[in-house]
Amino acid sequence: MVKWRGRRQSKNVEDRRGAAAAGGAGILIMLIRFIVGRFGIRGIVLLGIVGAGLYFAGVNPMALLQQQTAPPQAAAPADDDTSQFIRVILAETEEVWSQQFQLVGQDYPEPTLVLFSGGVNSACGYASSAVGPFYCPGDQKLYLDTGFFAELAQRFGAPGDFAAAYVIAHEVGHHIQTVTGTSAQVRAAQQGARSEAESNEIQVRMELQADCYSGIWAHHADRTSGILDEGDIEEGLRAAEAIGDDTLQRNAGRRVTPESFTHGTSAQRQEWFVRGYRTGEVGSCDTFSTQQL
Ligand SMILES: [Zn+2]
Repeated sequence: MVKWRGRRQSKNVEDRRGAAAAGGAGILIMLIRFIVGRFGIRGIVLLGIVGAGLYFAGVNPMALLQQQTAPPQAAAPADDDTSQFIRVILAETEEVWSQQFQLVGQDYPEPTLVLFSGGVNSACGYASSAVGPFYCPGDQKLYLDTGFFAELAQRFGAPGDFAAAYVIAHEVGHHIQTVTGTSAQVRAAQQGARSEAESNEIQVRMELQADCYSGIWAHHADRTSGILDEGDIEEGLRAAEAIGDDTLQRNAGRRVTPESFTHGTSAQRQEWFVRGYRTGEVGSCDTFSTQQL
C-alpha cells in the first residue's frame, strides 16, 4: 500500500467528473439512459406521456432538455480518497521531475491532470473512457478516468494503488517527452517511416521510455520520499505485465503479431520500468539508440 495519506496534494488537478462533456444530444442520451436505468421500460412510457403532456400544454419538451446543463448523475465529491490519492501521486511526480530539471538548470513546467467520467473534450478531441488514461500534447494535460483503476484490477488482474500510480507516472513520462522535444522528434520520424510496422516500432520505443520514466519516479518515491511500501514495486511489475501488447493480444484470443505492437511486450515493459527504478537516471532511459529493446 502506498503511504500517501497526509502528504502534499498537487493543485494541478481539474476535477471534471460529473460534468457534461457532450452537447445537447449527449445530455438527452444521458437523461434517457438515467430514466431507463431507474424506471426500466416504464420510464420510456413515462417520458412519452410527460413529453406529450408538455407538448399539448404548449411547452416544447426538447427546449427543456436543451436548457439542462448538467447530467442527472451526482458529481463525485472533490475530496474523495481516489482524487486525494491522485493529487498526492501527481505532487510526488512534480517533486521528482522538478529536481531532474534543476540538474540541467531548467524549470519543470508542471502538467495539469484532468479527472473525468464517461467522456471528455481535450485539445486532442473527444475521448470516451474506453481509450484509457492518456496525455494530450496539445494542451499538456493528463486525462484520467478513475474507472480505469477498477478496470486495471478487474479486467487486467493488476490491483493495488501502486499499479494506479505507475500509470499516472507513465502519462507524466509522456509530458516529459513533450516538453523535452522527444515527442516532436518521434512524430517526425514516424512521418518518414516506410511502413506501419516501422512507425509502430518507433511508437514502442516512445512508450517504453515512458515506462522507464515511471521507474525513475518510483526510484525517487522509494528512496527519497519513502512513500512506497513493501510489495509496491511488485504491484507495478504486475501492472506492466498485464498491459504488455503480447499479453493483451493473447488474452483477447488474438494471434500475437509483434509488428502491430505499440507499447512493447510485457517483458519489455517490465525491463524498462526496472531500469528507471534501479538507476533513477534519465540517461538510462534511452530507448531510441539501443539495438536490443
Ligand atoms: Zn503511453
